[in-house]
Amino acid sequence: MSDVIEFRKVGAVGVITINNPPANALSFAVVKGLAEHTTACMNDELCDAVVVTGAGKMFVAGADIREFNMTRPDDVPEFHDLMKVIEEGSKPIVAAVNGIAFGGGLELAMGCHYRIIAPGALVGQPEVKLGIIPGAGGTQRLPRLAGVETALDMIVGGDPVRAEEAVELGIADELAGEDLLARAVAYALERVADGPRPTGGITSRLGAVDPQYFEEYRLKIAARTRGQEAPLECINAVEVAATKPFEEGLAHERDVFVRLRDGDKSKAMRHMFFAEREVAKIPGITKQTPVQKIEKAAVIGSGTMGGGIAMNFANAGIAVNLVDVSDEALTEGLQKIRGNYAGSVSRGRLTQEKMDERMALISSTTSYSDLADTDIVIEAVFEDMDLKKKIFGELDAACKPETILASNTSSLDINEIGAATSRPDKVCGAHFFSPANVMKLMENVRTAAASDETIATLMKLSKTLGKTGVLVGVGDGFVGNRMLHVAARIAEFMVEEGALPWEVDQVIYDFGFPMGPFSMNDLAGIDVRYSIRQEQLKLYGDRRQSVILDRVYETGRYGQKTNGGWYTYEGGSRNGTPEPIIEDIIVKTSAELGFQRRPFSNEEILERYVYALINTGAKVLEEGLALRASDIDVIWHYGYGFPRYRGGPMFYADLVGLDKIYDKVSQFHEDYGDWMKPSNLLKSLAGEGKGFADYVVSS
Ligand code: NAD
Repeated sequence: MSDVIEFRKVGAVGVITINNPPANALSFAVVKGLAEHTTACMNDELCDAVVVTGAGKMFVAGADIREFNMTRPDDVPEFHDLMKVIEEGSKPIVAAVNGIAFGGGLELAMGCHYRIIAPGALVGQPEVKLGIIPGAGGTQRLPRLAGVETALDMIVGGDPVRAEEAVELGIADELAGEDLLARAVAYALERVADGPRPTGGITSRLGAVDPQYFEEYRLKIAARTRGQEAPLECINAVEVAATKPFEEGLAHERDVFVRLRDGDKSKAMRHMFFAEREVAKIPGITKQTPVQKIEKAAVIGSGTMGGGIAMNFANAGIAVNLVDVSDEALTEGLQKIRGNYAGSVSRGRLTQEKMDERMALISSTTSYSDLADTDIVIEAVFEDMDLKKKIFGELDAACKPETILASNTSSLDINEIGAATSRPDKVCGAHFFSPANVMKLMENVRTAAASDETIATLMKLSKTLGKTGVLVGVGDGFVGNRMLHVAARIAEFMVEEGALPWEVDQVIYDFGFPMGPFSMNDLAGIDVRYSIRQEQLKLYGDRRQSVILDRVYETGRYGQKTNGGWYTYEGGSRNGTPEPIIEDIIVKTSAELGFQRRPFSNEEILERYVYALINTGAKVLEEGLALRASDIDVIWHYGYGFPRYRGGPMFYADLVGLDKIYDKVSQFHEDYGDWMKPSNLLKSLAGEGKGFADYVVSS
């Protein structure tokens, strides 16, 4: 009946196998085939029971989310109607869960009357991570099988559980031995005398749950899921399961699922899901591109970044040699690393044994002659071109010819650094974000001369280190910081003209960022931003700069490190309070600059900040510094906390409409001058009524 479903009879048991590689996703064709075969089995007098399983390593990895945006053909039942066909089936139907059963996969298994699970299989309801709730009975059946508390944890958290735990929790009836299918067929026959056991009819595990429990759960997750709807709706749906009849619960779940699926937040989260997978696709690099082995690494500079980078290697089980100019510097660097690990041990996140293993992988030296057989070197010394060129020249002489030499520079021209070596094809950028042992992003910088092999190796290394590597080109601040600096500058201008830093920060926080630009500035150091601005003034003197930051810098208030910057941090607190001295400086400076201060609406603050990001993102794309708009979204989510449920700046731009953004940016251009000039790409896409998603960078 269908080429994605295989059917065979084993004695009196009909075995339905989903074969829709690679993930056995519940596409329209799979749903149709499952319904047809189930019905056929129910009508077949020679069939006493049914087993549903998956071919290959997956049971069913979930719904086919690409089909969310498509119209369902008339002859395909809705997934939840298929569940009804199965649940109301007149003969026992057993799910033989052979591998991953996520989302719709677990729902399908729970819609069956019994479940046998293979060791190593994983089951879960990760829908919340896509901004939706389970839509085919997951929120109603899981509490009936596993109890309300477990169901809440699994549905609201979205993380899977292993087969053994699934049995303990009551999600599966039995852990199979070696031959899952044989056991499932035997089990199905054993159940013929009992008949079907519809999950919807099970109430013993629902118990009476105190309504307060749900209230407390909502409070518990509120901060972590700020701005999202799905987590709260997951809780509501499980509460309905615990308090209302099954059919009513299914109808509630369905309504909420459809509303969330069609809303912008879920669309944004689905976009991010695909965007994260797209970053790995690089024109010219295929599975056949050779990748160098990375078994020994070195990090030059044991400061803020170098220490964190070295930890990444040790965490991944790769030996790493830390290099600095003196034993004192190394001792200090190693001490910080040890302190970091010890903190994780004391919080129970790492065992002492693992910490010892990792520390043992980190060695240190002051001599490049110890680096001869290193596979990759990451340089993280001061941001100074001459120093970096000198170091790369020395590394070139000291390391074997294959060694990849990468720089963690935030802004310098890596083409120039590469030219200081005899192997520019092996020179690239590996731009980690601070704190480097925590932040998931790496901007992997492709220099003009870097070989495909070097880039493929670097991208693979990101994965090995548990990072999301995004390929970018050489340019001022690469992608993320270039955009950030423009938005930060416009934020400072708003303050010159009438807004206050805490007003700007509140709007940006409410949009969903972890913090606004002034709080971020206090965290990173006003002195750091001051020196970046000095550099930029030297390089691009024509760029207009706000002077308020200079005035704040001159007071010696550098941010959290001095217990005060834009805000004051009482007693070392990380939560700043607005500082009257700063407000005085701002008002005075505005007057000196001749500004009649004016109020800014929240909408205007948001538009100026986010559209400045978007316009710069468009320039980055136009210049070919990012491969696709969605790569920029990934950078902004992982590097700067752009809320996932807004999908990154470029996706957000498409939602707003590029014509509106172009008009506003044109206005900013008039206000601020050429550094806010609308990008040509923004202009042309807006003119054609297109979005960034329509823009394909030619390779
Ligand atoms: P840092 O000042 O904390 O550390 C620099 C280290 O390099 C010091 O330990 C210093 O002793 C060492 N060093 C200096 N000269 C050396 C030499 N010749 N040989 C070996 N070691 C030497 O600086 P950082 O904040 O870690 O920044 C390092 C690099 O990372 C810079 O290029 C910076 O732009 C970049 N970066 C920094 C951040 C950040 O947030 N701090 C983020 C991304 C990238």
